[in-house]
Amino acid sequence: MEEKGQYQCEFCITACGMSFKKTFEAIQKNKEKRRRNLVQFQSHSPRGHDQTTKRYTMTQPRSYPATTDKTVLNHYLELPQDKENVMCEYIWIDGTGEGLRSKCRTLEGVPAQPSDCPIWNFDGSSTGQAEGSNSDMYLYPIAIFKDPFRRGDNRLVLCDVYKYNKKPAETNKRCTCVSAMESVKEQHPWFGMEQEYTLLDYDGYPFGWPKNGFPGPQGPYYCGVGANKVFGRDIVEAHYKACLYAGIKICGCNAEVMPAQWEFQVGPCEGIEMGDHLWMARYILHRVAEDLGVVISFDPKPMTGDWNGAGAHTNFSTLNMRKDNGLKYIEAAIEKLAENHEEHIRAYDPNKGQDNVRRLTGRHETSSIHEFSAGVANRGASIRIPSRVLEESRVLM
Ligand SMILES: [Mg+2]
Repeated sequence: MEEKGQYQCEFCITACGMSFKKTFEAIQKNKEKRRRNLVQFQSHSPRGHDQTTKRYTMTQPRSYPATTDKTVLNHYLELPQDKENVMCEYIWIDGTGEGLRSKCRTLEGVPAQPSDCPIWNFDGSSTGQAEGSNSDMYLYPIAIFKDPFRRGDNRLVLCDVYKYNKKPAETNKRCTCVSAMESVKEQHPWFGMEQEYTLLDYDGYPFGWPKNGFPGPQGPYYCGVGANKVFGRDIVEAHYKACLYAGIKICGCNAEVMPAQWEFQVGPCEGIEMGDHLWMARYILHRVAEDLGVVISFDPKPMTGDWNGAGAHTNFSTLNMRKDNGLKYIEAAIEKLAENHEEHIRAYDPNKGQDNVRRLTGRHETSSIHEFSAGVANRGASIRIPSRVLEESRVLM
């Protein structure tokens, strides 16, 4: 017969006076609550972090790392491989417009250009890209990079996605971008993109943040140094070296304003090369983080509250802008951009601008999503003209 206070309570680790039966019931109730939380968490889209921030801080991790020993893997990666058998990882953007997928095939010989890689297919019904009952989709190789994971002669192959009827998939924005770039090629449009991102732990909470709370307020983290200022530098360093090895025009990186948030920059690239290099840099980042047991989020606002979001700022110039008196061409471009602000916002993220509603609030170094603005050295403007452009009257915006 159970006695009151006879058993230690499993919750507060003290003899709180709760009977064993009641303690057992409470444990069962708690287990059920945790199961419900897990279901709730799994039903959220990756962009649901902002709505679940508070629950993340109050509950246990909902998923767990499936880690393997990388030193064992190295044994196999170092096995000799002949030139007649080259592993090519075909990479493409999936139906979400932001997720990346890949699969590998062996080619006989090292491809020197994309056309050396055969067109391949995949099952579009598993990537949110199939149309009707015909789920065959086609991968058209469009850019090749060295593979920093398998190394040697192995290659990463970025692909365009086409439907069974040989028309571009709805998510294939590159196709229209190529024709736009082609139409202005005499202007040699240069781009440089600054990709901000957040490192997340397996539970979806920012990497390195205290599990039951928050780090100190923003201020010391941007370009910070020290174990209490930056989290996950391993990933950033590995990603940078892997991108250089692959042949990506990565040109910089820094720790960002929110702890566990980082940025890398790619460019200058001319025309369509910008998108190709940025997407491959994103793929490599996902792979590096996967190896190191961390999740990458490109969500514009992974944490609500007084925390900066993550953007992808674009630096841009044309041949005329780079010449003497280029400022007048920059001003003319700004006028055109102002006329189509809403349309551009809709195209700025894969959810017709809705993702950036959460970020572009006019706070945390952003401009309001509802207003177009431009200014010199103003980080709160839609278009920022660096002050040195005004001094030299040319270069970029
Ligand atoms: Mg930045």
